[in-house]
Amino acid sequence: MTISPFFIRISLLLACSVMTMGPAWCWGFYAHRMINYHAVFLLPPGMIGFYKRHISYLEDHAVDPDKRRYALKEEAPRHYIDMDSYVIPHRDSMPKRWDHAVERFGIDSLHRHGIAPWWIERMRLRLTRAFRERNAAQILKISADIGHYISDAHVPLHASRNHNGQLTGQHGIHGFWESRIPERFAESTFDFVIGRAAYLERPTDFIWARVWESAAAADTVLRMERRLSEQYPADARFAFEQRNGVVVRQYSSGYTARYHYLLQGMVERRMRASIFAVASYWYTAWVDAGQPSLDALSGRTFTAADSTAWDALDMRWRTDAALGRICD
Ligand SMILES: [Zn+2]
Repeated sequence: MTISPFFIRISLLLACSVMTMGPAWCWGFYAHRMINYHAVFLLPPGMIGFYKRHISYLEDHAVDPDKRRYALKEEAPRHYIDMDSYVIPHRDSMPKRWDHAVERFGIDSLHRHGIAPWWIERMRLRLTRAFRERNAAQILKISADIGHYISDAHVPLHASRNHNGQLTGQHGIHGFWESRIPERFAESTFDFVIGRAAYLERPTDFIWARVWESAAAADTVLRMERRLSEQYPADARFAFEQRNGVVVRQYSSGYTARYHYLLQGMVERRMRASIFAVASYWYTAWVDAGQPSLDALSGRTFTAADSTAWDALDMRWRTDAALGRICD
């Protein structure tokens, strides 16, 4: 059988379009893994041994919450909050307690605009309980998960309605900022020597402050890309380049470098802030639980049911459509 050149061309086009359409992830899988990994090294002596022993788990499962978006419709709003959807007289009038927020805005509205900071608070309480109960599996699961949600709250476009530039003709900017730049520059140029985790006297205020910072930076994220796109040759903005060993169409290296330069280190600053925040949340939950010894927990492992649940999650993520907002 001979294959016509037309068929070959069509096949190549289809292959290319498939390669360009892979979803981008909140902070990207790459950055989420990196944040959970580096957070471990900020922990105090009473914690670092346990967390180091399970560092591969914390890395691998840093992305479970994004996979869960394919299995659970309630999941998506936990990753963002559209701060520009709220008209409030001043920051302090934003209800930090979930029941007050429900009372004021209603549950449907909250789920529509995202619930990240309230969800993080709930996860913090769960982590504290897991430490109190000395439940190693729960400590690890919640640590990996909360690391994800805290990091997402540091991403400016997770605090904006225009989360993927869809309102301003900048579709794709979400993954550009949080995936493309870290993948291109984090390992080679970002500084991840950060110091130590801090005990957070007011964790709720702390995470809300990070969310407000994100909301304030969203404008710059969008404006800088807009400005750059007006100056940069349109045909050089995208290129077929290697990504994880596969050739994909993506923002070109030149365009990415230029955008990174215009942002003046913003992605690195937010990644560093994420690492500090994640470690500090883990540490704060441990202190609030009375600093239980974690050495005795190291022998405990996950159950067969856990493995089955992870396999099922993986399967849904690979085969199903996302339920709710994703970042591509
Ligand atoms: Zn996410």
